[in-house]
Amino acid sequence: MEIKSAEFVMSNSDVAKCPKNLIPEYAFIGRSNVGKSSLINMLTSRKSLAKTSGRPGKTQLINHFLINKTWYLVDLPGYGYAKVSKSAKKTFQKFITQYFNLREQLVSAFVLVDIRHQPQPIDLEFMQWLGENGIPFSIIFTKADKLRPKAIENHVEDYKNILLETWEEMPKYFITSSSKDIGKEAVLKYIDDLNNNMKLD
Ligand code: GDP
Repeated sequence: MEIKSAEFVMSNSDVAKCPKNLIPEYAFIGRSNVGKSSLINMLTSRKSLAKTSGRPGKTQLINHFLINKTWYLVDLPGYGYAKVSKSAKKTFQKFITQYFNLREQLVSAFVLVDIRHQPQPIDLEFMQWLGENGIPFSIIFTKADKLRPKAIENHVEDYKNILLETWEEMPKYFITSSSKDIGKEAVLKYIDDLNNNMKLD
């Protein structure tokens, strides 16, 4: 898919105020510093569509970008566990769960994980939560330039092994590097195919 236009539409923390148009939407989410802004900039071939941080604790906002005037790319804030007063149960920030529960336009989420690290509980628990709530998602491994091919393979294998303990199959995944421009076409083609399939329905 060629990116002809990429426009910032709005930022807000209230899901009810997100754009009302019923066009396909794809949400990008992951822990802070995972490389989400860099990935969004790579995918859209824009230098600073999403603000790369380098600093944690960026404002917690849902950012909508309109791509090719036909679909939304949504930059979601990093997830963390919400502070729950009495119960020890871990829950994700409310507006993130609200976003996923309320956005009918959402076609798929992309959960970003840094390829260098072993599977982290919070990422696994977030994927589990998406699964339990019937939200389709794929995994995007970021910063692949930091590892040799064999190490990449091993880390993906670690993820597979752990996910297959609870899932019937490994979700679709992409290996990317924003610094080396790797994985861009695969992710964009996947989105394009989903958009085209929806037109046929
Ligand atoms: P965000 O907080 O998830 O939006 O992450 P950023 O895109 O701001 O990136 C966090 C840090 O990781 C920055 O220092 C980036 O330069 C670095 N980074 C992001 N993507 C890559 C990548 O593909 N390769 C490498 N080597 N570094 C990356």
